[in-house]
Amino acid sequence: MIEIKTASGSNRDVHRVGALNTPQRLGPVAIIFLGPPGAGKGTQARHVANVYRFPHISTGDVFRSHVAKKTPLGLQAAKIMSRGMLVPDEVVCGMLSEHIRGLGFAGCLILDGFPRSVAQAKWLDRFLYMRSGVSHDLQCNAPAAIQISIERDQLLRRLAGRRSCPTCGRTYNLYFQPPRNPGICDYEGAELVMRPDDSENVVRERLMIHDQNALPVTEYYLRKGRLLEIDGNKAAEAVRTAIAVELESVFALARA
Ligand code: ADP
Ligand code: ADP
Repeated sequence: MIEIKTASGSNRDVHRVGALNTPQRLGPVAIIFLGPPGAGKGTQARHVANVYRFPHISTGDVFRSHVAKKTPLGLQAAKIMSRGMLVPDEVVCGMLSEHIRGLGFAGCLILDGFPRSVAQAKWLDRFLYMRSGVSHDLQCNAPAAIQISIERDQLLRRLAGRRSCPTCGRTYNLYFQPPRNPGICDYEGAELVMRPDDSENVVRERLMIHDQNALPVTEYYLRKGRLLEIDGNKAAEAVRTAIAVELESVFALARA
């Protein structure tokens, strides 16, 4: 057993991974969450990351942190994000690669909001291969993509009601997952904020862009036989259980 500490160095960030030189014991090199804005990717990805103690990487969150710090990348991304457009592939891939290297973690990654194009999916395959040295032809090590589907009406309410904590990033919902005290994070006591790109006109643009790009990405993972389809219309706990069942079979394959 190997213990690897992430950059923050807290106990919570100690990840235990099996013997890295025995591919069969690794399981998938990444678990990818796909779905439209508001489908519940972040909510579910954070939970899976906590259960398995894998790092959760939301490319949207990483961009938002660059925007908040006003880094050159943040200034570039802010203009694109505020219009609901996608950041160019090479910029996202460069940023993600640097972020992953900075984690200092060698095991499975939980990716939320990435890939959003076939070019990104192909880049990810190459990157994961270089990183782990494990061939994805081994079915048990290939990335597993969880596709969360959701009806449009439900999705619009989720986005309109989404609020997040600027300190810890936890997400709440005015209608479905309200905090204990209105407008205040249960854990940090900070005032919750609405994402500027969750405003009605930007949401319309983001959904249109999602619809244009999503199908080829879904098909990419379907062709590889690693697409796990989840009905995201149910309550968060029910979605969580459905994902747990699917992942259990993925990890069982790796243990076989
Ligand atoms: P949501 O949670 O609503 O799906 P995200 O937080 O994942 O949205 O992304 C917010 C914004 O960040 C996107 O609208 C886009 O501008 C940018 N972004 C995030 N991930 C990617 C990506 N993989 N490719 C291109 N742009 C991205
Ligand atoms: P995404 O990352 O796909 O954009 P989020 O996980 O941020 O989606 O969820 C969008 C909003 O919907 C948030 O306000 C979240 O609290 C809420 N939410 C997530 N899953 C569910 C669910 N199954 N039922 C109701 N609300 C949900």
